[in-house]
Amino acid sequence: MGGPSSLASTVSGSSCLGKTKLVCYCGVDSPLVTAWADENSGRRFHGCGKYWQRRKCSFFRWFDPEVPDRQKKLIRGLLKKNDALKNKEKMLLLTIVILGMLLFVSVLVILIKLG
Ligand SMILES: [Zn+2]
Repeated sequence: MGGPSSLASTVSGSSCLGKTKLVCYCGVDSPLVTAWADENSGRRFHGCGKYWQRRKCSFFRWFDPEVPDRQKKLIRGLLKKNDALKNKEKMLLLTIVILGMLLFVSVLVILIKLG
């Protein structure tokens, strides 16, 4: 289940300013990444410093504590709602653009008829 949470207790980095610096197996600073995969949406973890490159190691450590199932469901629901709203926004924008174009064309037609 989840990540290797047993490793979390072995974090030995020195913390300065409340931030613990972690180094992945590549020897690169491990960035704090937010997971957006369905199971752990919004949960942050430390991954490989070369996360976005092809040659990355398997370094993985959860930063946030395990999210309770109820909250996972809640977050998933909110994300879905957010997506739905984004889609609606896109549709509205499209509608506005189309209406604007129609208005432009009709004004043009009127002008041509008048001229
Ligand atoms: Zn690495």
